[in-house]
Amino acid sequence: MTTKVALVTGAARGIGLAATELFLERGWQVAMVDRDGDELAAASGTLQGVHPIVADVSIPEQVDRMRNQALARFGRIDALVNNAGVALFSRAPSVSFEQWREVMATNLDGVFLCTQALTPALAETKGAIVNIASISGLRASTLRVAYGTSKAAVIHLTKQYAAELGEMGIRVNCIAPGPVRTKLAMAVHAPEIIAAYYDAIPLNRYGEPREIAEGIVFLCSENASFVTGQTLAVDGGFDATGVGLP
Ligand code: NAD
Repeated sequence: MTTKVALVTGAARGIGLAATELFLERGWQVAMVDRDGDELAAASGTLQGVHPIVADVSIPEQVDRMRNQALARFGRIDALVNNAGVALFSRAPSVSFEQWREVMATNLDGVFLCTQALTPALAETKGAIVNIASISGLRASTLRVAYGTSKAAVIHLTKQYAAELGEMGIRVNCIAPGPVRTKLAMAVHAPEIIAAYYDAIPLNRYGEPREIAEGIVFLCSENASFVTGQTLAVDGGFDATGVGLP
């Protein structure tokens, strides 16, 4: 049987590392991509069936090299997980253009660049793409003028690509995670935000990276063979309630 290959961006830690581990458990091989070479080496060192690639998803030349290295190592790519992301929680009037561009470069340009670069390889395998957005892309609130806008754009980009790439047999879906205890979240979630999330989420807790990974691997699998253009909120019920973001 053919071993399937996933390329996961932002794979050195958090949700991307959890997705990598779950793909491996399900018998896939994984090209682990991250711009943090030290953290990527530490995360990938003990894993069998992975190929670490240091690349920044917001830089076109590095994305092309990433694709070439992954194809040289594995010869095929069955799934692309556009997970690399950065967060900025700051009141809108104080957000500089440089900060805005930094968020857009990774969260939005990175999804576009990786998708463009890997579309030919994914057309060969009739593969799948999963983009990682956020509940901040579903609901507007304070503090997230750049982050929330970048994630709302990823949700729409998912639908655009689903419409365009369906004729090639490529499915494109999106996950909107609620708060998950990772380095990214802990850097921007002040204590009052954490408390408010607990109140706003029916399941009364943060999610675990593994719970987001389950959604990612499902959407990349044959079990989701007729699902495309969708956004799956993995959020403890937050989106269902209509309560505002903390
Ligand atoms: P994390 O900070 O733990 O991991 C993100 C990884 O992406 C890091 O290893 C980082 O080095 C890498 N990365 C960042 N920019 C990159 C770039 N330009 N090129 C290559 N690698 C890059 O974050 P996480 O919480 O695991 O987040 C993963 C994704 O999930 C992000 O897109 C994030 O926006 C989204 N998300 C997270 C949460 C949460 O609460 N943690 C909630 C909703 C959505």
